[in-house]
Amino acid sequence: MDFENWWLLSFPLFFLLGWLAAKIDVKELVNETRRIPSTYIEGLNFLLNEEKDKAIEVLVKLSLAEPDSVELQFAVGVLFRDKGEMQRALAVHQGLLDRPDLTSVQRNRAILAVGQDFFKSGLYDRAEDFLKRVGGKEYVPEALRLLTDLYVNQNDWMLAIEVARKLQETTGESKKSEIAHFMVEIALSCREEEDHNQALEWLYNAIDENPEAPRPRVVLGDMLKAQGLYHEAIHEWSKLESYAVGYMGLVTDSLIECHYKLGTQNQCLGNFKKIIEVAPNHDLLVRTYKLSVELEGHEAARDLARTFLKKTLDVTWAIPILDLIKKDADDTFLEDVNLLIEVTEKHRQDSGHVCDSCGFRAQAHYWRCPACRLLDTYVPSTTQVRGKA
Ligand SMILES: [Zn+2]
Repeated sequence: MDFENWWLLSFPLFFLLGWLAAKIDVKELVNETRRIPSTYIEGLNFLLNEEKDKAIEVLVKLSLAEPDSVELQFAVGVLFRDKGEMQRALAVHQGLLDRPDLTSVQRNRAILAVGQDFFKSGLYDRAEDFLKRVGGKEYVPEALRLLTDLYVNQNDWMLAIEVARKLQETTGESKKSEIAHFMVEIALSCREEEDHNQALEWLYNAIDENPEAPRPRVVLGDMLKAQGLYHEAIHEWSKLESYAVGYMGLVTDSLIECHYKLGTQNQCLGNFKKIIEVAPNHDLLVRTYKLSVELEGHEAARDLARTFLKKTLDVTWAIPILDLIKKDADDTFLEDVNLLIEVTEKHRQDSGHVCDSCGFRAQAHYWRCPACRLLDTYVPSTTQVRGKA
């Protein structure tokens, strides 16, 4: 194959290799390997077919034939890391760092690569050393991102805040949501050490940082309630109504408890009914129904169930109504009504929580998904609810 034809063939391959292109400088790699194109295309084909073992074999062979090729070394190192062969990835990247002919941009890239290898190996102290040393505008944002993850993994929230702020300044992208979470984490550890004033201060800091964040408000109410400040707790939680009404489901039990302490449970029920008019939420519906049974009796609660059934896709709400029909049904219909109840029960929706991003299911609500590690991806209630008709 002559030189020009090889170019024509290799170009579309690069477009298909999006993930690799992000990791290596493709143009540079082409320049460095134009003398051995067939082996190179063989390597690319293996990558295209996700045959990483064979791709590594070919690229290692290539890099031995072309020891001066920096891009090939980077490519081989990244492939080793992706395969989890951390010792070999580190050897390649550290070998690059020993070279005296690297440009300053390449040197920073190699420092970042070594930091990434140590991070993936779980050697956080060593990773931190390298990531802190990354300079230049090209690789600093990635180093700061990884450093933030590193401090989060180590529960070092102060440093996580510091680095997130630096990342915010460097890239201009807002990190206030993450920073508010980190501040809540500090508040929670203060509370564990029974330093309530410090804990409250950190929660107010978190609210200042990101006034739209539901979590600081949820935790603040919890703390005030624990101190017997029921009015204040209700006041804080009710602020969620205006900007994060979906999260009311997380605090409904606590709200009911506080209102009972103050003897204002009827006011609580009235308020819940108002909220579900504008923002029906499964957890809130369940609590409102139960509260209605307690305070107003079964007949009134069934009226509520009828209203819910019109708003929601959750067939569970048909059961109280079917129960009512069953009470008055004669023998001719009783069997049918029981069958309807049985079928409806079978369609009762799972009340677990699902991550919006990766779909991980959990019984409890998480602020950070245990699977994909993203923040605020759990909707506070799972059952699908139709909007206001
Ligand atoms: Zn997730």
